[in-house]
Amino acid sequence: MRGTLTRPPAVPDWLPNVLVALLYCAAAWLGDRFLMLELGMDAVLWPQPALALAALLLRGWRVWPGVLLGALLAEGWRWSGQAPGLNWLLPALGIATGMLVQALAGAWLVRRHLGAGNPLGSFGHCLLFCLIVAASALLGTLIAIASAYLGQLVPQKMLLAQGCLWWLCNASGTLLFGSLLLNLYYHGWPSLGREAWYEMIAYFGTVALLTASIFIWWHPTMDTTYPLDMLVLPLVAWAAFRFSPREVALALLLITMLALWGTRHGGGPYLGFSAYSTLIILQTYIGILAVVALCVAALMSEQRHIKQELGRQQEQLEQQVRIRTLALEQSHAEVLALSRVDSVTGIANRRCFEESLDGEWRRARRLGAPLGMLMIDIDYFKLYNDHYGHVSGDYCLREVAQAIRGSVRRPQDLVARYGGEEIICLLPDTGADGVAVVGEAVLEAVRELQLPHAGSSVASIVTISIGGATVHPREVVDSRQLIEAADRELYRAKQQGRNRLVIAGRDEATAGR
Ligand code: GH3
Ligand code: MG
Ligand code: MG
Repeated sequence: MRGTLTRPPAVPDWLPNVLVALLYCAAAWLGDRFLMLELGMDAVLWPQPALALAALLLRGWRVWPGVLLGALLAEGWRWSGQAPGLNWLLPALGIATGMLVQALAGAWLVRRHLGAGNPLGSFGHCLLFCLIVAASALLGTLIAIASAYLGQLVPQKMLLAQGCLWWLCNASGTLLFGSLLLNLYYHGWPSLGREAWYEMIAYFGTVALLTASIFIWWHPTMDTTYPLDMLVLPLVAWAAFRFSPREVALALLLITMLALWGTRHGGGPYLGFSAYSTLIILQTYIGILAVVALCVAALMSEQRHIKQELGRQQEQLEQQVRIRTLALEQSHAEVLALSRVDSVTGIANRRCFEESLDGEWRRARRLGAPLGMLMIDIDYFKLYNDHYGHVSGDYCLREVAQAIRGSVRRPQDLVARYGGEEIICLLPDTGADGVAVVGEAVLEAVRELQLPHAGSSVASIVTISIGGATVHPREVVDSRQLIEAADRELYRAKQQGRNRLVIAGRDEATAGR
């Protein structure tokens, strides 16, 4: 996981430690070189405690020797000429220890209260992070200032003033640079579209221009001391609303740099009566601006995150609903299809037949077309069951039904199970001749099955009797008359010796072989 703290290993890894030490020295040098007001004071912002805190948070406890080494080198280099002989050594050691204790305490408090994730990820976390930075900076500064005092690097009368200033420089530096490092780590480098890049360039250009106007080009007099420094706030809000906390941290740094540079060169509203008062006012401004900006940025980022998460969940939900609806529609269609199929024979059931008859009857009536029908019954099927058993009877019924269906060709023709072993064929737009043709095909198809029937007295195989009829629905009142006619013919076929086709209005029957 990102940024988890590992338990201290027995032998610290030397490479990350050396890297941390080098980066610490570079940060301290940068702080001294660029962030110093030439007013006889120290660096105005301390980037090195931020680096130490970020290293411990992101790389774990194992880099503490690197922090200590970096702090020793940086403080040794800074204080080496400031006291006679080697008198600077002990205070430098004390100050370096103070820096290490500050970083360790800060990292421990962050991990303990904010967990292993991004400590600037939400408004509450960000606020607590600012407090932890202030508290740990106070601890580090107390140790440092005490060491400097004991080593006679700071006179007693300057103790409080110097201590306050160090704490402000330390805390605001840690907050500014620490938030930048952590935001860069957790938000990565920007991958933006063209328009977002334009907006960002416009944003940073505006920030630079406005801050330079306030802190570099503007030299207020007693008459023109307007609170123009407040103009920076809407700019910070712009970044918080439109970009991520990473850009807010960058903007803060830009504002701070320009404000420092301008003040150092005698511009801006914070030029006080002394270097000390100038620094205190400037540091307070920077500190308050940083806390407000970082917290608002965290709040906005948190809201964006929640919105994205909600959108994602809604998308997921809609996807699930779509899948469920589709599955329901499918199973509904399956149930509908099943409710129209006979389970034993696999052909349409009685219900399906009745629905179709109704529709076809009305259609034939409208078109003035004939409607044909075959009523089919297996001969001596009771005896078949008695002889072969009901399981074989079911099998035989299924085979006969499928053979009948196979011999009915037109798509609108329907083969359905009408009763026990009676099967009915509904033949739209089919006159007596057509009914005869289909009936003969059906007789032939069943015969071709060659299913043995030991109990039949008409043949050695399973045979069927068929009654056929056709009517013109325009001339007949009720569809039941067609069924009755086909049934009558079936009865006649049975009477005439079974295994045959008898059609209403035709005297000769087609007998099976
Ligand atoms: P007929 O030649 O006069 O038609 O003689 P039959 O024995 O076939 O007489 P009938 O048509 O009255 O007999 C119907 C028999 O069909 C009764 C029952 O044993 C059998 N039967 C009806 N439905 C099923 C079924 O789903 N499965 C099985 N195995 N037999 C059925
Ligand atoms: Mg029968
Ligand atoms: Mg029957």
